[in-house]
Amino acid sequence: METKYIFVTGGVVSSLGKGIISSSLARLLLSRGFRVTIQKFDPYINIDPGTLNPYEHGECYVTVDGHEADLDLGHYERFTNVHTSRANNITTGRIYQSVIDKERRGDYLGKTVQIVPHITDEIKRNVKLLGNTGKYDFVITEIGGTVGDIESLPFLESMRQLKWELGSNCICIHLTYVPFIKAAKELKTKPTQHSVKQLQEVGIQPDILILRTEKDIPVSMRRKVALFCNVSPDAVIQSIDVPSIYEVPLTMHEQHLDEIILRKTNTPYEGEPDMSRWTEFLDKMQCAEKTVTIGLVGKYVELQDAYKSINESLFQAATYNNHKLNLVYIHSEKVDDDNVAEKLAGLDGVIIAPGFGQRGIDGKFSAIKYCREHDVPTFGICLGMQCMVIEFARNVLGLKDANSTEMNPQTPYNVIDLMEEQKSISNMGGTMRLGAYDCVLRDGSKAAQAYGTTFVSERHRHRFEFNEEYRKAFEAAGMQCVGENPDTHLVEVVEIPKLKWFIGTQYHPEYSSTVLSPNPIFLSFVKAAIDNAKA
Ligand code: GLN
Repeated sequence: METKYIFVTGGVVSSLGKGIISSSLARLLLSRGFRVTIQKFDPYINIDPGTLNPYEHGECYVTVDGHEADLDLGHYERFTNVHTSRANNITTGRIYQSVIDKERRGDYLGKTVQIVPHITDEIKRNVKLLGNTGKYDFVITEIGGTVGDIESLPFLESMRQLKWELGSNCICIHLTYVPFIKAAKELKTKPTQHSVKQLQEVGIQPDILILRTEKDIPVSMRRKVALFCNVSPDAVIQSIDVPSIYEVPLTMHEQHLDEIILRKTNTPYEGEPDMSRWTEFLDKMQCAEKTVTIGLVGKYVELQDAYKSINESLFQAATYNNHKLNLVYIHSEKVDDDNVAEKLAGLDGVIIAPGFGQRGIDGKFSAIKYCREHDVPTFGICLGMQCMVIEFARNVLGLKDANSTEMNPQTPYNVIDLMEEQKSISNMGGTMRLGAYDCVLRDGSKAAQAYGTTFVSERHRHRFEFNEEYRKAFEAAGMQCVGENPDTHLVEVVEIPKLKWFIGTQYHPEYSSTVLSPNPIFLSFVKAAIDNAKA
């Protein structure tokens, strides 16, 4: 079948959940047996979000092929169970860079290079890149930002052209917000009408409207929206707040979103999507009565999105362990040796978060020391693992002032040091050790037991590593290096076997945990936390 293109745009306000809608739709189409991928076009100038502070843009997600990507790609993978890649996340910066490179090479010789057609052609080329591989029946393209932003205009113009060129093989879903005005006790559709007008002004007629709302929108009101916006009444769908994002595919299916799309794109289909495994997960989620309490020690705790993939991995793991998750954020800057017992009181397990730089690092050391001495199940991820190593060096090996050279280049005991290949790098963008690398786990280790195998592949994002020179001293004192890269022998996993569950991974297992295939190490950590609570 010819590849069909579905665009998802947003209007009225940002943060309406275009990523969740795109992911839910992809889930439904996949469950009908179609081959689907989702890509995100972000209208900012950065080449990728890798250099963005989490305060700016939430978590930076990492793909298997080592691209630092928008966190929506995390949702795509968690919902679809299909890997994304560098081609699934394009920014204005990358579009311009590629056009400017072509200009310098002389590809446009003699021509004035302009937004239309050169930038828009480059956008269109990128929209079709995945479709042209022949691997997908549907390519869903989420356009970041909100309709009406200056920055999104070239993307919308490209969309307009593609809709014209591709006919019924291309449709647009527009997501808007219907506010409830408390004083008037009324839902208001005017912002939606205005938002659709803005799309129409740039020549785009949306085919489907999804109205995000906190209250049920009456059918008569949806009909009115349909009438004012030139959309068929059955294609005005509401997306009412639900307790979990993972319920959205079902609420969309109840309103026939998948069928509407299949009809509008002239795609033959029959029967219903097979959502049995998905609903099994939802059933577990809804039936769970007991709660597991996990603390996350990090410096971005006031930011919901900074540790998105960790939150979701923990949630999935709790659900598969038939528990609700109570995730407690603990601000690492506010923890010290004096208050740590109080700060960590009542936690069944503790996550030491990844990160960069000095801020909040001492609180992580205090938390790790406490957990190690009190045998609380503890999971250190990336910087969290490095902190476990440093704490062990200081307090068990007696190497006072041991550190990572990231925090103190002059440390006398550089137990964590810059990777050799990083020493000549001066550019910050896209130059870390990124993406999936193999890791061999020691037979019989807790990590190998967790995975049920001694060979795994997980994603990375770091410049610093365990310093090989100290390996023997650590192992002799009880912290084992149980995972290493088979080619470079970089230490990937450390653990203290005599404790209940005390494991640090240099890699980020949270990037590969999905609803249908939760990451085994998270499952094992949460199980250990539950067992700890029982004991
Ligand atoms: N800052 C550390 C490094 O670069 C850890 C990075 C991380 O936690 N992602 O190695």
